[in-house]
Amino acid sequence: MHVIGTAGHVDHGKSTLIAALTGIHPDRLKEEKDREMTIDLGFAWMELPNGEKVGIVDVPGHRDFIENMLAGVGGIDAAIFVVAADEGVMPQTREHLAILDLLQVERGVIALTKTDLVEDEDWLDLVEEDIRSIFNGSSLADAPIVRVSAKNGSGLTELKNTLAITLKDTPHRADLGRPRLPIDRVFTIAGFGTVVTGTLLDGSLRAGDEVVILPAGLKGRVRGLQTHREKEEIAIPGSRTAVNITGVNVDQIQRGDMLAHPRQYGVTKRIDTHFRMVADASSPLRHSSEVKLFIGAAEVVARVRLIGADQLLPGEKGWLQLELRDPIVTVRGDRYILRRPSPGETLGGGQVLDAVPKRRHKRFAPDVLDRMISLEQGTPAELFLQTARGAGIAPLREVIRQTRLEDKQLREALDELLRTGQLFFLESADQRESKDDLIATADTWASMTAQAESEVREFHRMYTLKKGMPREALKSRLKVEQRIFLAAMRRWVQDGRLVELGTLVQMPGFQVSFRPQQKTQIDQLLAQFAGAPYMPPSVKDCQSLVGEEVYHALIEQDILKQVSPDVVFRKEDFDQISDRVIAELQKGGTITVAQFRDQFNTSRKYALAVLEYMDETGVTQRDGDERRLKQL
Ligand code: GDP
Repeated sequence: MHVIGTAGHVDHGKSTLIAALTGIHPDRLKEEKDREMTIDLGFAWMELPNGEKVGIVDVPGHRDFIENMLAGVGGIDAAIFVVAADEGVMPQTREHLAILDLLQVERGVIALTKTDLVEDEDWLDLVEEDIRSIFNGSSLADAPIVRVSAKNGSGLTELKNTLAITLKDTPHRADLGRPRLPIDRVFTIAGFGTVVTGTLLDGSLRAGDEVVILPAGLKGRVRGLQTHREKEEIAIPGSRTAVNITGVNVDQIQRGDMLAHPRQYGVTKRIDTHFRMVADASSPLRHSSEVKLFIGAAEVVARVRLIGADQLLPGEKGWLQLELRDPIVTVRGDRYILRRPSPGETLGGGQVLDAVPKRRHKRFAPDVLDRMISLEQGTPAELFLQTARGAGIAPLREVIRQTRLEDKQLREALDELLRTGQLFFLESADQRESKDDLIATADTWASMTAQAESEVREFHRMYTLKKGMPREALKSRLKVEQRIFLAAMRRWVQDGRLVELGTLVQMPGFQVSFRPQQKTQIDQLLAQFAGAPYMPPSVKDCQSLVGEEVYHALIEQDILKQVSPDVVFRKEDFDQISDRVIAELQKGGTITVAQFRDQFNTSRKYALAVLEYMDETGVTQRDGDERRLKQL
């Protein structure tokens, strides 16, 4: 599950393009429709050609609404960067690019749209050149350009294909078991009450979960969840999620609040950060200046403490301690943007290094600066863990390749992570490592396990009469490769999380349970079998009495045994018949259909079905009219 955000100058055709791609017009407000302009965030979703469903956050392009844009781009995995072919690069093209660069959005596709308005190919080439030159050096420098028109539909298929390719190797958001939802919309739905939406991070939410709204600390409960308008039992990290909560009133919540599980997050009014100033800022950033901080979906006023410098010039980097006017929820690694309040201007942005620094730092103390530097670099273990999370379950070799740590650091990082249980080898129980073995982080594993259990549980809920979910169905729901699935399955069985029955997977302790009415019908049916064990009701009779589904459940549970397309016995009766026949034949004799019929006082139909079944299963062999025990 991924989320894409739009970007681009006002009127360049973002909303129209999203509507053409998804069939959903993202402008929601009446004022937006009247002014034909996006003011606030819009939301849509679509299925890419490879079947992946992606959420889309459509942002306003007008410079007056840049701050609404910032509330929406926090959780995106990739951008659709829209540039109108007739106008080319404009001021908010640059400003949006600068913001995506500060947020380190590294994946995206540039949609050169409105190409229907431009007849001159040379002009399109020039505009593309111009785009390349401003994207150069940014996090989106390698984004492909696709020429499209939302009016006549040209290039839309290519755009979707290019998005699918771009997202294909975009890591999924890690499940750290600590869900948090930066709230970007709050509203009520008649009959349901309060709904909040956002892009879910760091963990999964389930219907029924207890939650808190921070920073206020209001307690509530998840009544229902939706992703892309579909009801879900569980919402996974990285998905656009709507949460229907009980216990909290709509006017107690606002954009920028955070929904989380109780006791997992604190609030903070002071953060240490690394900061990069945009190159075209109009003036330096001075110590003690007042700025607006945008982080997650939140916006708060902050005062800057510049560490180790009196001012930062455009393009420079440095370390800040930010003192916030209002509390927020954030964690190390979160990205943020700073803007000057008035006149509004993007100053720069960076990453949170410490979300709860213990004290107000002395600005020029060497140890303070040293600490900032080492926090920025991160420990090798942190780096390895991040990479392993991004890789999902993967061979150790693969993660090592991506981390690019030198041997000694790598060894230390691995030892620490294995020792603390944050990382483990999936395939080998004794933790003896080979570079080809699959490794998983504890949180990735926990979330995959939760997902597998929830799939199997859901299967049982839907098919109460089936013993289990076909393994292949589970594998395709989990979307993992065969090797990973096999290793995971083995672990789940070992750990008692799931039970394997041949090709089926079951929750431990699951029992097929019949409804009272079905039970009555089954009793009636079994009574008929008891009344005539050797001439019982036919398959068709059974199915018309108890229904096909219940019939199959009785077969699966070994209560009935079907021996031919229309002959079925109670299992116990069949076993008795077959024991008697075998005992007879062991005396060295033979049996014919007619003899069988007379012995069991049944009809030719049943006699034939049983004997043919015994031939097929290799118990007897036929020789003319006679059957004898098969010689081994
Ligand atoms: P946004 O502000 O970037 O979301 O831009 P809109 O989607 O509201 O589009 C601005 C204007 O451009 C509207 O009048 C659209 O009808 C028009 N427009 C959008 N895409 C195209 C296109 O591909 N071709 C043409 N000819 N007009 C377009």
